[in-house]
Formats: sequence, C-alpha cells, structure tokens
Amino acid sequence: MAFRVRLFGRAAACVALIALITGVASCRLPGADRPDAAAAPRVLLISLDGFRWDYLDRPEAANLRALAARGVRAQRLIPVFPSKTFPNHYSIVTGLTAEEHGIVANAIRDPELGLFTLRDTLAQAESRWWGGEPIWVTAELQGRAAASVSWPGSEAAIKGVRPTWWARYWHDEPHDVKVRKILNWLALPEGAGPAIITAYFHDVDGAGHSFGPDAPETNRAIAMVDRSVGAIVAGIAELGLTDIVNVIVVSDHGMAATSADRVIVLDDFLDLNSVEIVDWTPVAAIAPRPGDAERVYQALHGKHPRLQVYRKGEVPARWHFNAHPRITEIVAVADEGWTIASRATVARWRERDWTHGGTHGYDPDLVSMGALFVAAGPDIAQGRLVRPLRNVHIYPLMAHLLRLTPARTSGSLDSVRAVLR
Ligand code: AMP
Ligand code: ZN
Ligand code: ZN
Repeated sequence: MAFRVRLFGRAAACVALIALITGVASCRLPGADRPDAAAAPRVLLISLDGFRWDYLDRPEAANLRALAARGVRAQRLIPVFPSKTFPNHYSIVTGLTAEEHGIVANAIRDPELGLFTLRDTLAQAESRWWGGEPIWVTAELQGRAAASVSWPGSEAAIKGVRPTWWARYWHDEPHDVKVRKILNWLALPEGAGPAIITAYFHDVDGAGHSFGPDAPETNRAIAMVDRSVGAIVAGIAELGLTDIVNVIVVSDHGMAATSADRVIVLDDFLDLNSVEIVDWTPVAAIAPRPGDAERVYQALHGKHPRLQVYRKGEVPARWHFNAHPRITEIVAVADEGWTIASRATVARWRERDWTHGGTHGYDPDLVSMGALFVAAGPDIAQGRLVRPLRNVHIYPLMAHLLRLTPARTSGSLDSVRAVLR
C-alpha cells in the first residue's frame, strides 16, 4: 500500500506513468472523482483460449490448481453455440447467446456491414458488429473504469464506450508484457485504476489446433499460460490485493481431436460455386442465393452420416441459434471430431502431410467442448467444486462482484450463487 501511495502520489506522475508502463495513449484519471469506487472489490477476468476443462488436472497446470484450491472450480464451463472463440468471449462479457449479441461466428456476413473476420482490424473496431453491453461498458457507464488486453470486442466503442485502457490486438505480445500491464493497472491507487480487467492469452488454443489436445506441445502451452497466471496471482499478493481482487480464469471452449480420416467433403454433395460458405468448419455457415435455400438443404440433408444440416429457424432450440439476421439460411454442423472441407483444402493437407490436430465449434454440451472456470478472491467461496455452468452467467456474476446494475441478459446470478462465499 505504502509503495503505491509513494509511487503514484501525484496525478500528473500517475498520468505519465500510465502512458509509460501500459503503452496506451488514453490516460485520464478515471475514478479520481468517484468517491465510492475504492470501496468495491475489483475483478480480473483472464481467458486462456482453448483451455479444455480437464487440462486443469494435468501436471502443467499447478498454479491454476492452487488458485482453484483456495477458491472455486466448476466441473466445466459450457460454451454457447458455436463453440468458437469470438462468440464465446463475447458471451462471457455480455451474458448473451450468439443469436442475441450477433457475433455468430469467427467469420460473419452482414447485409450492411459486409464481412467480419478475425484479421479485419476495421471490423474489430466497428461497433455495429457488437450487440449487447459488455461488462466494461456497464462498468464505465456506472462510473468505474475498465482495462483490456486483447479481449474480443474491446477495440470497438460499443454504445460509444471503450475500456479506459485498451489497445489493438497484438497476437505476439509477450506474456511478461501482458502480466506487467495487468499488475501495473492493479497497482494504481484506489479509484484511479480499473475496477475490471479483461485479459486474453491465445497459446493453448493454437497448440491444440496444430497438434491436438493430447500432444506434448499442448502441454507445454498449458505450462506457459499457467506460469503467467502464477505470476499474476503472486503479483497481486505482493501488492497486498489478494482480498480486494476477485480473479476469474476462464476459457472459451474445449478442444476435440481431428483427423484426416474424418473429413466431410462438401463438394461431394454441392456445387460450391452455387453458394457462399461464410464459415467452414465444424459449423458451415452456408448462404444460398435468394430462393435457392431449399435446393441447397435437400442437397445436403441426410447425405453424410456425420453432418447435421438445418434450415434457419430449425437449429435445435437448446443452441439458441436461429433469431439473428446474420445466421445463414443453412447451418451444417459436423459431429465431434469431424471436419468439413472442400476437395481443394483436402488436397492442400495431403501436400503438407497433415494427418491430425484439434478443433472446436461443435455442440457446446459435448464434454470435449467444456471450458475452464476457476475463481478465487474475497467474494468467492473457498475450496468448492461446483456443477457445470453456462458461460452466460459470468456477466451477472461479475456485475454482482463489482456492485454494478447489470444489463438485461440470458444469464442469471442465481445460476452462479454456488460460486459466491
Ligand atoms: P479460434 O480458432 O476460434 O479459437 O480463434 C482463435 C484465434 O482468434 C486466436 O489464435 C487469435 O489469433 C484470434 N484472436 C483472439 N482474440 C483476438 C482479437 N481480440 N482480435 C483479433 N484476433 C483475435
Ligand atoms: Zn478459442
Ligand atoms: Zn481455436
């Protein structure tokens, strides 16, 4: 505490330091004029992309297990459909399903906005893609500041609001830079720093895709993110903030092993020039030309035993994936471990001797799609294992922890009471 007061005693020094240590241009002093801000606990939400729930029991995840031991661990966190990165990161921070928030895939076509992809920096910053109200907007609108490291959506001014501290996505940002940013934010004096931090680490997902969920490379990535979580938790303790910060570590989805022997070749059934495939696998978002949807449906439905094909509006209700205009007329979903591809893609794999790897996107209720939920802090129960919970309930949980009035969502605090002390 004394350290922080000494270091950040003056507003001017604070502003200069924030810019220096975070590399982020925005440096107003949020909360300096908010007397109540200091009283409420803070939330640090960390996402480890593609960290399947059961990785927590691998030897490489010792720091995460230690965090769970003094807090809560869910048997698994259930993603929204499709169990992909962008829909789920955005569900975690909004409490909405994909059909409600509109980030219906990692690749999306909108009649007015055009194409959304992960690499399109303009789309990332375009607020009209992002429906609902992420927790950082709820916080900022209610007078509490937010900071984000690479969380999907944090580059857009949603409802006109970005986190006070944000930056463009930097895929190769070193872990120690991310860790230092987070700890520097937490070290700011009460009321001047963010009440809510959302931070993202991609490594485990990348290894899972390239090598599969059981590969040594995936275990090394688990060890890497676990070390960074350990460094953050140790840094919080050094700052004397263990009883102030509620730490929630989640992932967006799990990972299932794929194989070149389990491929559904779409052009065996359909002329690919007759449709637009907005997203490929394992959920193919197929946009037929106007008036052509029924022909496309009949061409695909029941044609491959491992491919389930739905007309828009007939996707199983439990997936909540019918209402949004960005959902395509035809949605085709591969069974667990199967890949949807074109003949040309399969040929490219052969050239590269691709035989196996991993992916996600499948039915969120599959155990292999289960994600991570670990939390610890002043308001979190201690040493508790809770039943599987859906990720849309994390938004009301965070709003509760931050003493904020939540927006209306599909989540409910009652569904996560077991997490609370
Ligand atoms: P997925 O295959 O659905 O798991 O997508 C994972 C990929 O999403 C990561 O490897 C990143 O490259 C990308 N990604 C994650 N967060 C962001 C972001 N905020 N902006 C752009 N790309 C991102
Ligand atoms: Zn992901
Ligand atoms: Zn992935």
